[in-house]
Amino acid sequence: MRIAEPSSLVFGALLAVIGGGAVGFVAVQALGGLAGTGIGLALGAAVMLLRLRGPWQRWRVARRALAPRRQRWLQRHVPFYAGLDEGGRRRFERDVQFFLGEHTFEGVDGVAVDDELRLAVAAGAALMLHGRPGWELRGAGRSVLFYPGAFDDDYHGGDYAAFDGMAHQQGPVLLSARAVRNSWADPGDGQNVVLHELAHLFDFQNEGADGVPSLMAPASEGAWRDLVRRETARIRRGDSMLRDYAASAPSEFFAVAVEAFFERPASMQRRHAALYDALHNFFNLDPASLVERGDAENEKRRRQTTHQQQRDDGPRGAVRETGGDITTPPGA
Ligand SMILES: [Zn+2]
Repeated sequence: MRIAEPSSLVFGALLAVIGGGAVGFVAVQALGGLAGTGIGLALGAAVMLLRLRGPWQRWRVARRALAPRRQRWLQRHVPFYAGLDEGGRRRFERDVQFFLGEHTFEGVDGVAVDDELRLAVAAGAALMLHGRPGWELRGAGRSVLFYPGAFDDDYHGGDYAAFDGMAHQQGPVLLSARAVRNSWADPGDGQNVVLHELAHLFDFQNEGADGVPSLMAPASEGAWRDLVRRETARIRRGDSMLRDYAASAPSEFFAVAVEAFFERPASMQRRHAALYDALHNFFNLDPASLVERGDAENEKRRRQTTHQQQRDDGPRGAVRETGGDITTPPGA
C-alpha cells in the first residue's frame, strides 16, 4: 500500500485545473474578473484538497511507529513478518496501520472486539499486499464484522451454521471471531480464514468471483485456468495438499491455495511447484524463502487430527487493476 499513487495525484491535479478553469471562465463572464477568478481557484483548491485527504491521512499514520505489543504479536504469529528484514518489517507495520485506520471493526452477538482481532485481519491484508505495494484491497467495503463462531445464511449461529467467513462486494467482511483467533494460533496449519476471505476480495469482478483474480494480467488467465483444472483433478484423486473444499469452485480453489501458499509454502513449493510459482509471481512474494518452519511436522499433525473443513459461501464482490502476471517471474 502506498501513501499516494502518483497517477491519482496527477489525475486530481488535472481535474482541479480543468474543473476550476471551466467554472472560473464561466464565472468571469457572469460576475467579472475578480469574483470569477476567485470562484475558479476556490473550486480547484477544493477538488485538490479532496484528492489529498486520503494521502494526507496515510502520511500522518506512516509517521507513527506500530506499538511494541503489536510488533510482538506479529513476531509471534506471522512467520513471514518475522522473516523480513528491518525495512520490510517497517513497511509491513505501516500497511497494518493503514488497514487499521481505514476500516471499522464491529462485534456481533456480544463479541468484544479486542486489539488481537483487529490486528489479525490487518496482518492478513499487509501480508497479501506486501509484494505489490501499488495494490489495494479496493473491492472491499471498509467494515469488518466479527461473529462469535460459525454462522449460517441468515447470519445466525446454531446447528446449521457452516460459515467461518463471508466476503461481500463493496460490503463488510464477516468473520467468526473463533476462526480468526485459530487462524493465527498455528500459522503453519494451512488454514486461515482471514487469508481465505481476503483472497476472495482479489477475485471479485463486476459480476462476481470466477476464480481468476481480477488483478491477474489478462495474458495469464488461460494458464491460470489450466493450472486450476489440473490441481482440482489432483484434489479429486487425493493427490493434493489442498483440502477438498478447494475443488468445490474455482473461486474456492484460489482462496484455499492462498491459505496454503502463505502458511505452508515449503510444502507447496515441493509438491505443487507450478502452483507455487504462479502465486509467487502473482503476489510477487516468495514466502518459502522466509518462512522456515517445521512443515513436515505440521503436515503430520494435520493428517492425524480430524479434518475440519473451513467453509464459506463463496465470494461476492471486486478488485480492479491488472498486472499480476503468473507466467512471468517478477521483474522479467
Ligand atoms: Zn471461500
